[in-house]
Amino acid sequence: MSTSAEWIARDAAAVWHPFTQHATWTGDDPVVVDRAEGPWLIDVDGRRYLDGVSSLWTTTLGHGHPDIDAAITAQLARLDHSTFLGTTHTPGIELSEALIALAPKGTGPDLTRVFYAGDGSSAVEAALKIAYQYSTQTGRSRPKFVRLEHAYHGDTLGAVAVGGHRLFHDAYKPLLLDTIGVASPGDRANGRHRGAVAIAELQAAMRRDGDQVCAIIVEPMMQGAAGMFDHDAAYLVAARELADAYGALLIFDEVATGFGRTGKMWAAEHAGIVPDLLTCGKGITGGYLPLSAVLAAEHVYDAFLARPGDTAPRTFFHGHTYTANPLCCAAALANLRVMGEQNVIGQAARLGERLGKLLEPVAAKPGVLEVRRLGTMIGVEVAAVGERTGFEVCRAARERGVWLRPLGDTVVLMPPLTLGDDETDLLVSALDAAVDEVLG
Ligand code: PLP
Repeated sequence: MSTSAEWIARDAAAVWHPFTQHATWTGDDPVVVDRAEGPWLIDVDGRRYLDGVSSLWTTTLGHGHPDIDAAITAQLARLDHSTFLGTTHTPGIELSEALIALAPKGTGPDLTRVFYAGDGSSAVEAALKIAYQYSTQTGRSRPKFVRLEHAYHGDTLGAVAVGGHRLFHDAYKPLLLDTIGVASPGDRANGRHRGAVAIAELQAAMRRDGDQVCAIIVEPMMQGAAGMFDHDAAYLVAARELADAYGALLIFDEVATGFGRTGKMWAAEHAGIVPDLLTCGKGITGGYLPLSAVLAAEHVYDAFLARPGDTAPRTFFHGHTYTANPLCCAAALANLRVMGEQNVIGQAARLGERLGKLLEPVAAKPGVLEVRRLGTMIGVEVAAVGERTGFEVCRAARERGVWLRPLGDTVVLMPPLTLGDDETDLLVSALDAAVDEVLG
């Protein structure tokens, strides 16, 4: 087996990585992951790192869970792939039933239909197209989306258009859909949430342009990739009311927050609000295989059914080669079964509380500006003392056996929901020492 250095040299000669500046890539000494066990990543040189961000927020049960491994293996022996266009299959049907049974309940419509996609961005793309087509098929074309400042909904063009993360948005501006940007309720002004300001801005935007808006899209309770900015449930209540008042759909993007990440199955449950469309991905398969979904309300689905006298087809013209791949659906079914049998949501809520307590001394350090947390979705914002302070803190944590990844100068902690006590202690103590090393 070659060493990390040898693999990195081969990587540098052939690979183009996502969201990566290749001029500095090899200088950052990337980890060459060889295998993984539970919450641990192991590199080709045998070094072990605690996976403190669940391999980009996905591996909610840790790596190598025997039930998910067995489900994928069994599915592989039966049916590897079959198109969802013109045929259907049992894992796809069963997973749809399971997702509908788990869908959030509260103020808003029941979510009764499942449309599959391959990753978070493509679920968002599907939701945007559904929302627009819904408007054309229930009245008239409403070509605008309301998006929130700092939002991140993925990197495909539609998803970028409804994002508000300057870094990812501005480079592609001339290519983007028409949107109405409004303030984020997670913004901090003088250390306080701007929930009321954001609601007022949303109200004003809808008063002005509501008849043009097909959907309002929100990351409920926590804007993740913005740097983990939480907000009050009141914003979601207001967004539901305004969407209803102006005939727009409400989309909750639960790609990051879904499947127990915030201490409940869905972040929407913190507010008791149900959207018309809910996108999910990441933790759906426990991080094993790529899959995502849009959960839709019946009234949305119904608008796509042909009626006598139609002059145009109502079909949703969307879907990919691997839509609802059976291996992915089997992995997701096994993940949902384990989550139910082992009360993973309860474990996640307890882990979040424990992390919150353990992080109190870290939050009190002078170099730490703010610790933001909902469940196990955590951002530790540090003061910039150089160009890449967040990255330097993560690098120092890595020296202590913990793998983390920053969002700018916010260090993200998103461990597996089932992380044990010893590993939780290691996660926080490594961060604590890393903050001391970089920020003094
Ligand atoms: N939506 C949200 C809220 C996300 O956090 C992300 C990814 O971080 C996405 C969409 C995009 O998902 P993916 O990277 O799987 O395309």
